[in-house]
Amino acid sequence: MTPGRSAELLKALIAFPTISRTPNLTLIEHVAGLLGAAGIACTLVRNDAGTCANLFASTGPAHVPGVMLSGHTDVVPVEGQPWTVPPFEATVRDGRLYGRGSADMKGFVACAVVAMLDASARTLRKPLQLALSYDEEIGCVGVRRLIDVLESAPVRPELCVVGEPTMMQIATGHKGKAAYRAVCCGEEGHSALAPKYTNAIHVATDWITAMRAAQQQLAEHGVQDDGYDVPYSTIHVGTIHGGRALNIVPNECTLDFEIRTLAADRAEAILDGIRARAAADGSATLPEIEEVNAYPGLETHVTSDAVRFLEALLPPGTDTRKVAFGTEGGLFSARLSVPALVCGPGDIAVAHKPDEFVELAQLDACDEFLARLVGSLA
Ligand SMILES: [Zn+2]
Repeated sequence: MTPGRSAELLKALIAFPTISRTPNLTLIEHVAGLLGAAGIACTLVRNDAGTCANLFASTGPAHVPGVMLSGHTDVVPVEGQPWTVPPFEATVRDGRLYGRGSADMKGFVACAVVAMLDASARTLRKPLQLALSYDEEIGCVGVRRLIDVLESAPVRPELCVVGEPTMMQIATGHKGKAAYRAVCCGEEGHSALAPKYTNAIHVATDWITAMRAAQQQLAEHGVQDDGYDVPYSTIHVGTIHGGRALNIVPNECTLDFEIRTLAADRAEAILDGIRARAAADGSATLPEIEEVNAYPGLETHVTSDAVRFLEALLPPGTDTRKVAFGTEGGLFSARLSVPALVCGPGDIAVAHKPDEFVELAQLDACDEFLARLVGSLA
């Protein structure tokens, strides 16, 4: 199988090492150059430092709602991973294209840019739009600025397709996520007099005990959605840092934790429940909680017009499901009231790993889908 136009563009995109928190501007300018050469104007929405940008482009009539293709341009780091191919130089072998971001999600970005170029050569009834973001992997950070701009646009898209890797199946939902930092305070003192002081690590473990009890409550009595592998809202501690030496009562301990919610649950309410439980269990001191980042879940109804529209463009037998990972679709849906669906080439199971790849056949399947989409807008 010979790589097509999208695969050729994907190779170029992989060569920009756009790790989250590092500049993506050269990639964005490359894409803007390609689109500009086809007469498609691009709007760049930059971060404060000017080192990263979101890109928005539209082709077709300006004053009617169209379909927006959305993808992030950042990728996760490769440090410490045993790659057997160069991560930022595409390798094509045995029908697969290897490289960081090939599946998550520069493969879709390449297909979407090619679809925009093809669409620009046709007369469209409705516009095809492209939204590329930065710093998605660290909590959908960049796209919020783009949404600020899209919010004030006179017309909003009627559908947003987020091309995260689903093996070209349709994902209608994912959980929301809130990330928190808990700072547990105590008093420093000689460990021989330990009971005289508040031990920050003990405060932290009381909090964790309350979190785990809340998790059990959610698992046994909370709302259930069998569309998910884990059918209830989840609570998890990711890191814990505290203490300086065994003979000093620690005065500070920090926890990073997250709450991932079904559409029916709210993270703040679950957090309030943990607080109440910790207090009821006799925790004298509760941690100071700071919300670090949050994005909403996505819940597009399986019988909605949006799902029917996509199903008609995809091969028979295409599955409709929910996914475990978060996407920018929740923000598009919540802030712009645009129905969003997740559908893209590649497998999430190879994402964030060494030797990440996308099958060329998946890129072809995505190209076919987008060609039919463009046809439906023409
Ligand atoms: Zn992704």
